[in-house]
Amino acid sequence: MNGWNGKFLRVDLTRGKAVAQEYDANLARNFLGGRGFAVKILWDELKPGTDALSPENKLVFAAGPLTGFSLPSSGKLVVAAKSPLTGGYGDGNLGTLATIQLRKAGYDAIVVEGKAKKPTVLWIEDDKTELLDGKEFWGLGAFETEKKIKEERGKTVGVLAIGPAGENMVKFANVVSQEGRAGGRPGVGAVMGSKNLKAVAIKGSKTMPAADPKELKTIGVEALREVLKKPNYAFWKRQGTMSTVEWSQQNSVLPTHNFREGVFDQADAIGGFTLEKLKVSQRGCPECNMTCGNVIKDAGGEPSELDYENVAMLGSNIGLGDLKKVATLNRLADNYGVDTISLGNVIGFAMEASEKKLLKEKIEWGDYEKAKALTEDIVYRRRTGSLLADGVHSAAEKLGGDASRWAMQIKGLEISGYDCHAAPAMALSYGTSSIGASHKDAWVISWEVSFGRESYEEAKVHKVIELQRLRGAVFESLTTCRLPWVELGFELDWYPKFLRAATGMSLTMTDLFTIADRICTLMRAFWVREYQKRWSRAMDIPPARWFEDPLTKGAFKGRKLDRKRYDAMLQLYYDKRGWDSRGIPTKKTLTKLGLGDVATELGRFVQLSA
Ligand code: SF4
Repeated sequence: MNGWNGKFLRVDLTRGKAVAQEYDANLARNFLGGRGFAVKILWDELKPGTDALSPENKLVFAAGPLTGFSLPSSGKLVVAAKSPLTGGYGDGNLGTLATIQLRKAGYDAIVVEGKAKKPTVLWIEDDKTELLDGKEFWGLGAFETEKKIKEERGKTVGVLAIGPAGENMVKFANVVSQEGRAGGRPGVGAVMGSKNLKAVAIKGSKTMPAADPKELKTIGVEALREVLKKPNYAFWKRQGTMSTVEWSQQNSVLPTHNFREGVFDQADAIGGFTLEKLKVSQRGCPECNMTCGNVIKDAGGEPSELDYENVAMLGSNIGLGDLKKVATLNRLADNYGVDTISLGNVIGFAMEASEKKLLKEKIEWGDYEKAKALTEDIVYRRRTGSLLADGVHSAAEKLGGDASRWAMQIKGLEISGYDCHAAPAMALSYGTSSIGASHKDAWVISWEVSFGRESYEEAKVHKVIELQRLRGAVFESLTTCRLPWVELGFELDWYPKFLRAATGMSLTMTDLFTIADRICTLMRAFWVREYQKRWSRAMDIPPARWFEDPLTKGAFKGRKLDRKRYDAMLQLYYDKRGWDSRGIPTKKTLTKLGLGDVATELGRFVQLSA
């Protein structure tokens, strides 16, 4: 095989064994890599109903056929497992040297199962694999863990680590690398912790097989140059995703006070231009010349890498209008290994619950000291933190009252940084995202704002599906960063060229969309198999707040979503996807996508429509 290494590393922590396994080339042809590999492995190998924090759950680290080659923004890795937060398919991607090293060690993915008897570090050096005693790292933050491993094993080693949040199985703990790159927000870090796996460290020295190495090198150089020539490049380098704070404020979508509003009085104080004044350096993922990680010194003088999502969720959403303080919360979260988006969401929820006297503890909007203490309490599962550590859905159920109305989650995953009172397409994107309320599959908000906010028309459904195909499946499976295309307009037709030079396969965008539909449909099948009779279209509907509590400020004052029209859009979405009125793929759709075996298996758990 060219492009792919054709091998997985299988690690059984219970038995203390690791073996290399060749996989069928059809897997690569049908699922590409990254997210495609992860969902296929989890579908095939997990027993339905597996406890996500049990040794039986599997942890997948998967790269794609473009990973590790010198191509724009190609240093991404997908980390996946059945999610302890949502009970469904869970994954995320992060930029990390570990993904390059993994591919150079000769593997496309690592699949970890079982549970180690004691804290362990998985060490991979080309064909050699060892399970090292991880006792000295247990209890350390993700940053210190990586630093120590690098001191022992060398600076070029790629490290994926969890912090105390993963060890304590906080259900939105993630996997961290390079002091600020993190992925797996639906609790992939908790799954790692449940297996006593503190870190994975990788060093590889092999040459990855490419179909046409000369061509790959030539177009790689050309493409990297092309990125630099894009008109928006200079401004992107100044602010990265942080300019979105001002954009969201202007368009009334900046999540504020637990998504009650879309505008924040102190937005400027946490925006891109404030960042520019405070910026001390820039970081990026490997193989990327866009380096969007903007670093400032936080309130304690420590470096903290910021982007839009963490600033929106730990800033406006909790009423905190001080970028340095936001940066402190962000750095703590990254080092503890807890997702910044979910953290900002649950803290906002706690502030509102306190205001409504559902919580005895007084936690006022914008109270930085309380937010800091709450972050630590969540990570160590203490006091109110233990209530919040299982996520906002669980906290709302435990608190009772009307808390579920304003617990801002879908399918159990906390909603990320866009308010949707007046953005029906973005609400649909959150509603139908494959891991719960994530913006990453279909970031349709910027298109929607220019297209027209108020409508619920068919074009919006098409756009959501198109973006889910591109962002949620093609980019996640190749596995490369989508931002060159999204932010700079780097043309999509580069990607089939990259694939051809790497793998020898000539795939058109239409072919890639068919693969994307297969991946999206399999992720949906995974959810349905897990939820079985508990599955319904209600799983794809945002919380009541967006339908019932209108905005009280800004240009969109008085706006809220229309339930009936959202529902009609959702039905249209199902029709276009070939899913039935419950949001379950039909037999015909599964068969058309080459998932006939999935239809047979899924039919054991729910009645499938023809
Ligand atoms: S654009 Fe940003 S997130 Fe994407 S690969 Fe580059 S540094 Fe990483």
